[in-house]
Formats: sequence, C-alpha cells, structure tokens
Amino acid sequence: MRLATFQWNGQRHVGVVAADGQSVTPVRMDPQQAQRGVLALIGPDGDLVLPDSGGGRGTPLAISDVQLEAPVPVPRRNVFCVGRNYHAHAKELSGSVFKNNNTNPEAWPIVFTKVPECVVGPSADVTLPVGVSEQIDYESELAVVIGRGGRNIARDKAMGHVFGYTIVNDVTARDVQMRHSQWDLGKSFDTFCPMGPWVVTADELDGTNTRVRGWVNGELRQDALTTDLIFDIPTLIETCSRGITLYPGDIIATGTPAGVGMGLNPPQYLKAGDVVRIEIDGIGSIENRFV
Ligand code: MG
Repeated sequence: MRLATFQWNGQRHVGVVAADGQSVTPVRMDPQQAQRGVLALIGPDGDLVLPDSGGGRGTPLAISDVQLEAPVPVPRRNVFCVGRNYHAHAKELSGSVFKNNNTNPEAWPIVFTKVPECVVGPSADVTLPVGVSEQIDYESELAVVIGRGGRNIARDKAMGHVFGYTIVNDVTARDVQMRHSQWDLGKSFDTFCPMGPWVVTADELDGTNTRVRGWVNGELRQDALTTDLIFDIPTLIETCSRGITLYPGDIIATGTPAGVGMGLNPPQYLKAGDVVRIEIDGIGSIENRFV
C-alpha cells in the first residue's frame, strides 16, 4: 500500500494512493491526528492502522489536485542516516571527507542524524544557504520507516520491524560537513531533507533489492541497486537499535550510491535553478529545485 500526506482544501490529510499513482483516497481522521502525516497510520505495535471500510475513507482525489507533502512531515525525532554505505561511493570519497578517518569502513557503519525540521516535501524547493556554504550536494537514498519498535533488534528479526520505505535526498553542505568531526550541522540545514512522494509498505516492496537513481537537470548521476549496500538493511536496524529503542515511525536513510557532485572531477556542486530528481523502483520519484 502507498500512504501519502498531502494538502487539500486548505488542510493536511493522510491517504491511500491508488496503484497507478494517479489518485489518493483520504483517510477520515481527526485533523489533529492528520498533522502527524503517515505516522498517524502506524499503530503502537508498528502495524498499519486504517479505519475500517465502513465509511472510514473519503472520495478519491486526483493526485494532480492535491499537494503532496513529506509522508512524515516532521519525524518524531532525528532521522538516522548512514554514511558511505555503497562500495563505489565509499571509493569516490576516499580522498576527501574521509581522509582523516582511520576507522575500518567495513567494521561498523557511519551513523549520523538530520534534525526533523529539515524535512520538506517531494516537490518543495530546497534553499541554498547563501553565505554559509558554497558546496551543496545531493544524495539519493532509500529510507526505511520503522514499524514495530524495539531495542537490540537482532539482524535476523530486523525485517519484521520495517513498516515501509520512502525516498530521501540527504542534501549536504560538504564544506560544513568536513569542517566538523560530526556531520549533523552540514546535513541539517533548513529544507535539506526532501522526502516522499509517499511510503510504500514493506509487503509491496523488497527494499533490499531495488534500484536507486538520481539526476541533476536531467543528467543521470547516480544509479545503483540496494544489493550493493556495504551494510544491508537488517544490519543497519540491528546497529541503530543497539542500546537505543527504535520507535514506530523512526526513519533510517540507508546511504547514497556513487555519483555525488563531490565525487566528480572536478566536483560539481548545486547552484540556484538546479533540479534534482530521485527515483526508486517500486516507490516513485521526488524532484526538488534548488533556489
Ligand atoms: Mg547520505
């Protein structure tokens, strides 16, 4: 099932998107609940909670008549993100941001976070932070939405904790990222986490084997399969839940393939007017203009 958060008729709604992606049927709920977006459909045990068919749904609306928002407009806490998680991407950045990193990249994942407030919708503008950074870069990523929470989740049980998947652009200020030992500042500027266009539930998509692609102004820059992840999704869930309770609705961005602007020779950073489109097979696409 595809679950979307959208503006229609001056209000935020949550709805079920048709298989063809052309319409969305609002789920009737308290407007206060709808503010939480798709989180309102994830029950305390992590399962999908939809009102029963007895009048619980509204009339389908054309997707073109609504304004899609990020499926989780404000995550309940920071977005977990994984750095350097595709073999080819780790290689392309080996001489730059990681030059002072002595850790064995194959031993433990790099995990950092983005603040919840930097999330924006699948077609929202991303604001270039003029005067703060000159090196803005894109990162096309598959994001996992946690269903059932838990702590110390074992790898072999981890997929049972996945509610679904969505797309994020882990927008990054490279100069700021490299200036600080921790990456959070360079990853968390306002509008730096486009997300969407909806959440696809785990029964409909195998996130461990799908294709992630990213374009800048129509030029294909990133193209990889999630089977190429250094640390696969079960390992990431196991790692992030070691001593930390994961909650329903938590989001883990799984890392980006090779082909970021910093990895090009010479590097090519984003400028005003550039459009980044990310597509993941089985989910759909997001497209954001940088202004
Ligand atoms: Mg990333």
